[in-house]
Amino acid sequence: MSAQVIDGKVVSDALRSDMKQRVIALKSRDITPGLAVILVGDNPASEVYVRNKVRACESIGVHSTVTKLPADTPESEVLDELTKLNADSTVHGILVQLPLPDHIDENKILETIDPLKDVDGFHKLNVGAMTTGKARYYPCTPHGVIKMLEHYGIGVEGKHAVVIGRSNIVGKPMSLMLLERGATVTICTSKTPDVKQFTRSADIVVAAVGKPKMIDASYLSEKTVVIDVGINRLDDGTLCGDVDYEAVSKIVKSVTPVPGGVGPMTITMLLENTIKSAETQKT
Ligand code: NAP
Repeated sequence: MSAQVIDGKVVSDALRSDMKQRVIALKSRDITPGLAVILVGDNPASEVYVRNKVRACESIGVHSTVTKLPADTPESEVLDELTKLNADSTVHGILVQLPLPDHIDENKILETIDPLKDVDGFHKLNVGAMTTGKARYYPCTPHGVIKMLEHYGIGVEGKHAVVIGRSNIVGKPMSLMLLERGATVTICTSKTPDVKQFTRSADIVVAAVGKPKMIDASYLSEKTVVIDVGINRLDDGTLCGDVDYEAVSKIVKSVTPVPGGVGPMTITMLLENTIKSAETQKT
């Protein structure tokens, strides 16, 4: 039997069509939601991500700007740029594309963004709010995963969810969001001696590892819903996830493809946070 495909494009299109209406409603109040992106350096993958974000904004009527700075820009200049954007009332969301060059302190940068405009949800005040169940902005990738599960009617409460990976942008917030929704959550990392021991009995597995096709069919069972967050580029230039989609889709209950799974959802949730920021701004 082949698995149900959880299609991020379908979910994304449905959410974006609702967002377009919210943007029209905002514009009727003379508010155009605005996203400002700062890109430091010339990392090709970052340039592609930023281009995709700009296109997504255009597609639903959100205004966006990109400030491109050379790789050797001093940290103080990036901080100055953020201070300007924080004070700009036409900017509702600010995003600094990661990774940053080594001489720039990522934490310092993220904590300079006004928490009310922190549409990535990485500022420590927003992270703290999320851990207490009072999030202003959920980080985009795990939020997108939750929206996909909701769209496909996949319940989380009472389920055993295994999250593989503990990064600040995916694994940790994903685990918290599943926990908040009543799942029993196991987090596996590179230090977990036997990941399969947990994943084989899981109802939901979220892979956020960054290792091409690491999760093969031997990790999973016929009852598993598999969410593949990984985006890996192979030597032949093609993209694949952390899950061996070909093999796994023959045995599990549901699975997300790569590309076309979590990827489109991440950008959609960035739009959601930017619109939410514009909707809640003081007028
Ligand atoms: P990361 O910061 O490198 O974290 C990877 C995590 O995987 C770490 O916690 C690491 O454990 C764990 N890990 C590594 N090898 C493992 C193993 N053999 N068994 C179990 N755990 C293992 O990566 P990330 O930023 O979370 O990203 C993960 C993947 O998602 C990447 O492919 C990235 O490109 C992709 N991604 C996709 C989107 C999207 O929109 N779809 C968004 C963000 C990221 P330790 O902590 O012990 O080292």
